Amino acid sequence: MLKYFDHNATAPLHPAARGAWLEATEMFWQNPGGLHRGGAGAKRKLEECRERVAEVLGCEAWRVVFTSGATESGNAVMHGARLLHPGAPVLFSALEHPCVRHPAMRGGSHACIPCAEDGVVTPGAVRESILRNKPALVSVLAASNETGVLQPWQEIAGVCRAQGVPFHCDAVQWLGRLPAAGMAACDWITASAHKFGGPRGTGFMIVPEDARAAGLLAGGPQENEWRPGTENLPGICGMAAALEICAAQCARADLVEQRLQWREDFSAALRRAIPMATEPGGNVPRLWNTVSLILPRHDQRKWLARLDARGFAVSTGSACSIGSGSTSLVLAAMGIGGDGELNRVLRFSSGWDTEAADWASLAAALPEILTELDSASPARRGVPAALRGFR
Ligand code: PLP
Repeated sequence: MLKYFDHNATAPLHPAARGAWLEATEMFWQNPGGLHRGGAGAKRKLEECRERVAEVLGCEAWRVVFTSGATESGNAVMHGARLLHPGAPVLFSALEHPCVRHPAMRGGSHACIPCAEDGVVTPGAVRESILRNKPALVSVLAASNETGVLQPWQEIAGVCRAQGVPFHCDAVQWLGRLPAAGMAACDWITASAHKFGGPRGTGFMIVPEDARAAGLLAGGPQENEWRPGTENLPGICGMAAALEICAAQCARADLVEQRLQWREDFSAALRRAIPMATEPGGNVPRLWNTVSLILPRHDQRKWLARLDARGFAVSTGSACSIGSGSTSLVLAAMGIGGDGELNRVLRFSSGWDTEAADWASLAAALPEILTELDSASPARRGVPAALRGFR
């Protein structure tokens, strides 16, 4: 049976999201812009979804703009910042996803805010960079998609507010896993439905209270002109359903605590079985679902293939850097990369439906695979089993 540990890349569609998607496809298929009865019904459903997303985020409904996902949303935020503050640089952290990093670098002047070795962007680093650059916008994600390391976005939002600079928080990996309380204090927030069990190709952005529409696309008046184009109502209904279910789970401290414990048990078991394996960032707080691991030897693709053969779906890092064949800029920013480390990284990311037994079987499989890979490696043959955890 498949043991799926790649939720940071995408999550399976939640049954409630599937139900809401199907219902909207059958019952609310008409264009929300239509002036007839069917159109009005679709429009009501659309606005109901907006209210539900806003309720989870704790903001006014009109701040919610539906998009096709976080890539479109991130591009729109960067575009909006340039349009609203022409000539001023944009600042993005060293941890940002390419959907923020690339448009920021492409559009004009910019600067990168470094992270510390533990993978955290400190409020002090943000403040320093603001004072030096006088930017149009600061962008720091809420939790790293690669390491799961949590960022102090609440404090960073405070620093930006004190300096009068708009703050964008890419909340893709945070939402659906941890409570969104206080997030509405960020000027811009971006998210993708499929990361928390909603349908692919749907997402949203939260826009600032005081900004006039400065969207990426030109076209019709939909989404208060922030995002023209006929709304993907089935996708939006599915997203609202998935977000609400995840929000209810996040609100249960006992569930979050339990998931955190399972992940920590996994890390502890691994430290015993493969002592030379390390976790970028060490003990710094991170998402309950993510473990990033640097293995002591053997290429990540060999590990991945053997895990796959045993039914474990894992990742070598961010899905976005894999296709391009590039190594991780995020881990490099944390000072990792010596001795071929970046080729020995695996990322495990669980979901709400992952069980303690799944983590335990993964922890058991890894040392067995190390033994297999050692046996298949001419250089390691003959190394006594007791020493195989060491280089
Ligand atoms: N931001 C972060 C932190 C992500 O992890 C991802 C996807 O991996 C994105 C943005 C982009 O999301 P999407 O591919 O759904 O547009």
